Amino acid sequence: MSRLVVVSNRVPNPANGRTRAGGLAVALEQALKQRGGVWLGWSGEAVAEPDPTPTLHDAGNVSYAYLDLTPDDVQEYYNGYSNRALWPLMHTRLDLTEFARKDLASYLDVNRRFATALAAMVRDDDIIWVHDYHMIPLASELRRLGLKNRIGYFHHIPWPAPDILTALPRHDDLVRALLQFDLVGLQTEADADNLFAYLTREYGLRSNGRGIVGWDDKTTRIAHFPIGIETEGFAKRARRAGKASFVREITESLMGRKMIIGVDRLDYSKGVPERMAAFEKLIESDADWINKVTYLQITPRSRSEVPEYADIERSVSETAGRVNGRFGEANWTPIRYVNRSYGRTALAGLYRAAAVGLVTPFRDGMNLVAKEYVAAQDPEDPGVLVLSRFAGAAAELHGAILVNPYDGEGVAKSIGVALVMPLEERRARWREMWASLVENPVDVWATRFLSALEDSPPSLASRLLGFMKSADNRFVTSRGREALTALW
Ligand code: UDP
Repeated sequence: MSRLVVVSNRVPNPANGRTRAGGLAVALEQALKQRGGVWLGWSGEAVAEPDPTPTLHDAGNVSYAYLDLTPDDVQEYYNGYSNRALWPLMHTRLDLTEFARKDLASYLDVNRRFATALAAMVRDDDIIWVHDYHMIPLASELRRLGLKNRIGYFHHIPWPAPDILTALPRHDDLVRALLQFDLVGLQTEADADNLFAYLTREYGLRSNGRGIVGWDDKTTRIAHFPIGIETEGFAKRARRAGKASFVREITESLMGRKMIIGVDRLDYSKGVPERMAAFEKLIESDADWINKVTYLQITPRSRSEVPEYADIERSVSETAGRVNGRFGEANWTPIRYVNRSYGRTALAGLYRAAAVGLVTPFRDGMNLVAKEYVAAQDPEDPGVLVLSRFAGAAAELHGAILVNPYDGEGVAKSIGVALVMPLEERRARWREMWASLVENPVDVWATRFLSALEDSPPSLASRLLGFMKSADNRFVTSRGREALTALW
């Protein structure tokens, strides 16, 4: 088995313990431990003169490698190009997309420095797995340095329609760099279709029917690999947490009212103010719900240095304040809005205690909260998931009530339906969703991606070169041999 090298913007710190690590980190660490290898990323530190050699932290057969950035890198590569250009664009928010050439230059420069640091650590037969939009040019930089390893990329966020992508200046350079990977993984078939549609429209490239496109002498496989969660582990955590005093205190404080839960990073793609407004419509249109239901919205701050995130924070607080001011009573707060982060066990217990999980992003690569909510339910008395059709999870969770987050009245009606859904229907819907979560937990997802990467076809030139070198090859003339070598 080849060694595994993982690259992502941030790297977990094994010294911090496992309690807060998400399913993705756990699955990648498991794959790293099986194969041995390296995980490289940004340390989270900004210093004036970063050392080009990463700081290493060895844990058994895995080395964690951390690179520092400069304050300008953080502003331009991270807050700028990654989070003010690529993030909104990929979430189809052209109105919020801020493109600046200096941010792009920094993005390319950071990727080049990561590639240089990585090249010094990689062995010939390592396989390399790069994660997310911060690192799209990495394979192209590694190829420039002469690396011929298998390199895969997983895109955790949505891939937009071609019209949206072409609004990004230099989109062609970005996609050409993407094609330097051997395998490009996306969350959903719709995302993969968007990428194929772009390649056909812009370059006339078509898939060979097995998801493979060829560009010069290089072939790339594009496929969807929907990410999962630690299904059984999360369910177990929820069973235990359901009995914890923290969760009991909260359920007791509901005084018999039903609870609706929303859990989202404070991000405009999640549709939190619009969701609160839909809840407002529910209690406005049906007074029976007044003082009968409490909506708990957990929303930790994120990317606070990006101006659009300050705007969304204001909008969420204002909406929660308005609804509570309008409908609240001395003994009832309709929306409990919490602006801090909870640990996974607390979340698991709260999901289990909630009659409705409300997940209504305008666009989301997958949305793990939707999957966690389902995994946390009591199979005998499960809650109902109300899920945006624009979350990647909607392609798998057919037992959810699917909603259009742009249709506030429709969302309000669906919340009402979820709150009174009969037990048998809740069980049947839950069983269907649970089965899909059991089939594709996050460790299986990682294994599927890695075996696809190992099986990905080598480039045309390397295949020809292999053919040329094979013992029974008597058909290649010496001129042909030279031409093929030059190609590689
Ligand atoms: N999460 C958490 N504590 C919180 C809020 C969220 O641990 O207070 C976790 C949540 O359990 C989930 C992840 O953060 O695993 C969010 O993933 P998701 O795919 O839903 O959205 P993203 O934030 O990646 O856009």
